[in-house]
Amino acid sequence: MEDFSATKILNDLRRCTRCTLPETHETIRFGDDGVCNICKNAEYKKEEVDWDSRKKELSKLADQYRGKSEYDCIVPFSGGKDSTFTAWYIVAELGLRALLVSFDHGFYRPKVLANVERTVRKLGVEFLKFRSDWKIVRCLMRESLRRKGDFDWHAHVGSFVYPMQIALKHRIPLIFWGEPSAEYTAYYSYDEIEEVDEKRNYRLNNLGIAAEDMAGFLQGEVSMRDLSPYIYPSAGELRSLGARSVCLGSFIPWDVRKHYEIIRDNLAWEGDVVEGVPPSYPYEKIEYQLQGPRDYLKFIKRGYARTTHLTSIDIRNGRMTREEAAKLIVAHEGKRPQSLEYLLRILDISEDEWRKIAIAQAVPPYTHDFRGEREDEALPDMSQWNWNP
Ligand SMILES: [Zn+2]
Repeated sequence: MEDFSATKILNDLRRCTRCTLPETHETIRFGDDGVCNICKNAEYKKEEVDWDSRKKELSKLADQYRGKSEYDCIVPFSGGKDSTFTAWYIVAELGLRALLVSFDHGFYRPKVLANVERTVRKLGVEFLKFRSDWKIVRCLMRESLRRKGDFDWHAHVGSFVYPMQIALKHRIPLIFWGEPSAEYTAYYSYDEIEEVDEKRNYRLNNLGIAAEDMAGFLQGEVSMRDLSPYIYPSAGELRSLGARSVCLGSFIPWDVRKHYEIIRDNLAWEGDVVEGVPPSYPYEKIEYQLQGPRDYLKFIKRGYARTTHLTSIDIRNGRMTREEAAKLIVAHEGKRPQSLEYLLRILDISEDEWRKIAIAQAVPPYTHDFRGEREDEALPDMSQWNWNP
């Protein structure tokens, strides 16, 4: 009889025996039972974390900062599902006066911009948006792609650093991020309140490249002054502010499906289609025009992408079997996104060069084969993007 089991359908990477994360996933370890440490983290989250006492800790934290400065807290805000849910929870449930701070990486999709408009009106909040210099952004994208096989340095770092700079400038010591990284990596676990600080920036955001390094790489082209939106405030300054920078998901259990329903019902937040993602996940990463190329690049390097990540969460939450996940992964993952054309124009490189850079960053034992690749469907809003960089 033909074998339709998940392991047979998926490629020959070793995978967790519970979810479908492969051995090429950052920070993954397998136990004797073949179950990965991310799954173990999720088990801990479900069974061991005392969420009642975490929630009490949260209201204590809110009380401690309420009414002490111009704003009670900052919510770093992209308009995607996680930051929208966080903003909703902080304002509607905790009753804090929040300043929403958005770093505009230059690639927001039209539907998300419309979601943002509805959210800020319905919530009744003040909203600060900053966009960094487009010419500098293009330099940074090219440089980080060539050095690290990842074109997103400016987006990762800017959206992480800029809200901290605003916290300092306006003397707002409390910053609420959304999803804790324990949800998808093992740099942190659920037994600690994850502090979102410079150490975390190095682990998760900046690809090991500080703004100073970037200025060195791009000497003559980009100066330290140009890079000011990407310079993390000094530890001393943040200490003097008494900054607490935490994830809401350390205090309440993170459940993306539930959160999506809450923001849909309360804020009229609308989902969208995303390249490489099944339509049954209309809420995932809809904000970024370059999400398709980002996930495609990950697939070329590591042999898996977003559908694996999403279905793994559903498996852990008992909403999907491994077999169902495998079928979705095979159907949606690893296709060449049509938005790659758009990215290559911005980077001003050829697809050949793109492939060479990606292959050079491959994580063994995965090796990508470009033959037989399928083309993904075009996104309906692509014609509204600015195709002239
Ligand atoms: Zn697992």
